[in-house]
Amino acid sequence: MSTQKKRNYSELINRLKNTQNNSVQIFTLDHIKYSNNKYPFQKIILGGPNPRRALISAGIHGDEPAGIETICSFLENSRYKAHLDQWEITILPCINPYGFENDTRENHENKDLNRLFKAHNPPREVQFAKSIFKPSYFDMTIELH
Ligand SMILES: [Zn+2]
Repeated sequence: MSTQKKRNYSELINRLKNTQNNSVQIFTLDHIKYSNNKYPFQKIILGGPNPRRALISAGIHGDEPAGIETICSFLENSRYKAHLDQWEITILPCINPYGFENDTRENHENKDLNRLFKAHNPPREVQFAKSIFKPSYFDMTIELH
């Protein structure tokens, strides 16, 4: 495994935190832990309760950071504001923190998370993501790769 990190997840968390306001709520669902690392797994909710709901997720493949950058830009530039009268938007900004830091498609167990949503006992990252994918809850989901 690589010892030289390509990106810093803590910096990403701080960047997201700086976008918080009355319309942007950030929740830590749980943590992804391995060896001496502990990554908060976050969910962001934009806007109040609304019957139309969208889910945007990113970073399931750690070597594809463009989606994460897109979410940061979407939040930092308040691009969501025009949609909050009609939509409640849930965001999973980075499903694979290890892959994000180390620029790997797979997680720390060398697993491709995007292939394991139907697994009997999926990795924690997938369990956390699946806990958000409530049946019939979202009208639209967008997975950024
Ligand atoms: Zn991908």
